[in-house]
Amino acid sequence: MIGRCPLCDLEVEGNFIRRDWFTHFTCDQCGTKTLVESEGEPAYPDEYFGGENKKKFGGIAGTARKYWHERRARTVRSLIKGAGRRLYDVGCGDGLFLEACRTQGFEVGGCEPMDKAREQAESHLRCSIHQAAFDKTSAPYDIVTTWQVIEHMDNPIAYFRLVRENLVPGGVFAVSTVNMESWQASIFGSKWLHLDPPRHLWLPKRKELEKTLIKEGFSIVKRRWRFMEFGPIGYADSIINLVDQKRDRLLKCLKTGFPGIRNKLVWLLAAFLTPLAILLAAGEALFARPSTFEIYAIKTS
Ligand SMILES: [Zn+2]
Repeated sequence: MIGRCPLCDLEVEGNFIRRDWFTHFTCDQCGTKTLVESEGEPAYPDEYFGGENKKKFGGIAGTARKYWHERRARTVRSLIKGAGRRLYDVGCGDGLFLEACRTQGFEVGGCEPMDKAREQAESHLRCSIHQAAFDKTSAPYDIVTTWQVIEHMDNPIAYFRLVRENLVPGGVFAVSTVNMESWQASIFGSKWLHLDPPRHLWLPKRKELEKTLIKEGFSIVKRRWRFMEFGPIGYADSIINLVDQKRDRLLKCLKTGFPGIRNKLVWLLAAFLTPLAILLAAGEALFARPSTFEIYAIKTS
C-alpha cells in the first residue's frame, strides 16, 4: 500500500496498521512509523501543561528534568569550540533547558507554539519567547536545539532546512527524539507510552534520521543514548497501560496529581513497579536501546 513518509519526504510503499483508536503507516524504505489517523482525546489539553498549578512536573520528576537539562547544556557547551554563545531552543516548553544554558554562559532565545507552555517559559526566564521558530533579527545562531519536539512536527525535512538557514557555518544542531528501536517499544507495541498518540506524528529509526540529516547538510559529531531519562516512566506507564483502559494515566497524573481512588491505585502500582522499571531502563541504556536518543550535528559548508 502507498502512504506518505515524512522522513523520505515521498509517497512510498508500506503498511497501515490499525491499533485501538489510531493507525500507523510504516515506511518500507526507512522503517519510519507515521500516525495517519487518530480519534478520541484532544492532542494538547490543559493537563498536558500541568493544568491549573502551571508546573509541568514537580517533586522528584521536576528535579530529574532539571538534572537532565543541565547535563544537555554542558554537552552542548563542550561542542562549541569558538566564542559562539547564541543558542536558540525550538519547542522550549517551560524554559527549563534555556535556564540551564544561561548558567553555562549562553545568550538564550527560543520559541514555543503552545500558549500555556510559552507563558510558563516567559515567567521563568523573564524574557520574550517567540511563538514560531526563529527571529530573523537575531539569527543566525551558533547552536539550535530541539529536544523531544521533531516527532510533533508534520514536516521534519522543511524544519531541518530551516534550522540550517538559521545556523552560522559550523554551528551545532542538537536534536533528540523517541527510539522506535528501544526494548520498551518492542515489548509493548501499541501500549508503549512513548508512542504517545495523537501527539507523536512520526517515529524514526536513529540511523535513518542520521542519514537524512547528512543529506540535508549536517555532519554527525556526537550521539548520546546511554542514559535513563525517559526509561523508567516508559516501562512503568506501559505496564500500567496493559491493564488500564485509560492510556498513559501515570504520566498524566505526574503532571496534575492523583485525585480519586483509581488514580491512587495507579500511584501504588507505580511505586511497586519503580524498582523493576529502573532495572529494565538501566538494561536498555547499557545495551544502547533506550527509549530516546540524542544526536549532535554540525552544519557543513
Ligand atoms: Zn521512509
